[in-house]
Amino acid sequence: MHFDVILMDFGQNMVDKARKLGDMPADEFRKYGYEVVDWIANYFEHIEDLPVLSQVEPDWLRDNLPVSAPEHGEDFGVILSDVDKLILPSVTHWNHPNFHGLFSTSTSSVGVFGEMLTAAFDMKAMLWRTSPASTELEDVVLDWLRQMMDLPANFEGIIYDTASVSTMHAIAAARERANLRIRDEGMSGRDDLPLMRVYASEHVHSSIDKGVVTLGLGLRSLRKIECNDRFEMIPKKLAEAIEQDIAAGYLPICVIPTVGTTSTSSVDPVDAIADICEKYGIWLHVDAAYAGSTAIVPEFRKYFKGWERADSIVTNPHKWLFTPFDLSVLYCKDLSILKEAFALVPEYLKTSDSKGVKNGMDYGIQLGRRFRALKLWFVIRYFGREGLIARLREHCRLARLFASWVEESENWEMLAPVPFALVCFRACPNGIDDLDALNEKIMNDINASGDAYLSHTKLNGKFTLRLSVGSIRVEERHLIKVWKLLNGRLN
Ligand code: PLP
Repeated sequence: MHFDVILMDFGQNMVDKARKLGDMPADEFRKYGYEVVDWIANYFEHIEDLPVLSQVEPDWLRDNLPVSAPEHGEDFGVILSDVDKLILPSVTHWNHPNFHGLFSTSTSSVGVFGEMLTAAFDMKAMLWRTSPASTELEDVVLDWLRQMMDLPANFEGIIYDTASVSTMHAIAAARERANLRIRDEGMSGRDDLPLMRVYASEHVHSSIDKGVVTLGLGLRSLRKIECNDRFEMIPKKLAEAIEQDIAAGYLPICVIPTVGTTSTSSVDPVDAIADICEKYGIWLHVDAAYAGSTAIVPEFRKYFKGWERADSIVTNPHKWLFTPFDLSVLYCKDLSILKEAFALVPEYLKTSDSKGVKNGMDYGIQLGRRFRALKLWFVIRYFGREGLIARLREHCRLARLFASWVEESENWEMLAPVPFALVCFRACPNGIDDLDALNEKIMNDINASGDAYLSHTKLNGKFTLRLSVGSIRVEERHLIKVWKLLNGRLN
């Protein structure tokens, strides 16, 4: 041990000598840069040899790391070898083709290149002046995506990190449009404000609940609307709720239908909901965080009927467009409302070109914004519209194929329709009383084995297995493997 320390100190001196001040020397960066790229290439090539779910126990990593930072800089080769020893075992591999839990998402290699360059530029896209590339590329690439999704030209996009944040901004825009002077006067201590209402289905993602909490509207402002047996919001129930609320003196400000709900990927009837929003003058925000990407596939457009009537739409290329986390897009018909709600230019951010240029900082709570558009630009250019469509189609085909196996088997049953690439199902073999316990055990056993990862939801009180298909690396053989794993646990 002592000998190791002496050796390390010796090596350390060499490193320090080379380093002194400034960044890693270019030669060293090149050497390790190639190693890191090789590392990532090997990772993608051999990812299937790794357990999908990390097999470590809680605190394993913490216990294997020093409690305080190193006094002297370390050799990057040593740091990199610790990635193998310490980090890799603690990774749950979202990029594994048998990651079918939650929404199965994965990055592409070109997306990784985008992240590398973004980190190298390290721009904080607040003002056009500080980041013309980020500002203008964002506009252009979001307009490409808008066209690919067949949205009208009056939608303008802005990139945030996540759908949770995009939707929070959409609700803020809806609140701003209600003209209640909240930007200046706030909401606390005011007795002239009605209870504001936001409406969404009972299957809405929890980010909407968090959005109303963050904006100070409170959970009591969120009214959840009943769904039909396909887990879709019932427009009649929405209209009734709005009527009741208006009669009670409340102020409906926003309705949020989802295209691709989290539990089942069900589709709320946006067109019928848009009629109601128009009638009552309510902001319509569509949560297409998961399924929005499929709007680029012509035969899937039927699920988006009426979304062109929305005031705002969120979609997440980081979910299902092979773009590394994070990149969420908020499209708005009138982005200037966000500017009215959030623009604030202190002296030190005033520039002579503030007129006529778009300054990203004006459209939300963030000042600095990452250069996220670069990775989406890479992804769209590398695969092309055609390549992206082919991959999304294949994922949906695989999900339907898996669903057909479930349907054909007497030991399994489907619990929800499959509009996209998520299958909700459960085991139901004869002679078992507690199907919830059986299905939970099947899921936990498979997940613990590291062979595949599934997640669950509860539908009509039933423990439901969820299998999502969305990895850029997934093939039919991966679905066959899961089907065998599942059936192997019935015996
Ligand atoms: N909306 C829907 C329908 C989702 O499924 C999710 C996440 O799965 C979100 C919003 C939140 O996404 P994010 O993690 O980007 O905030």
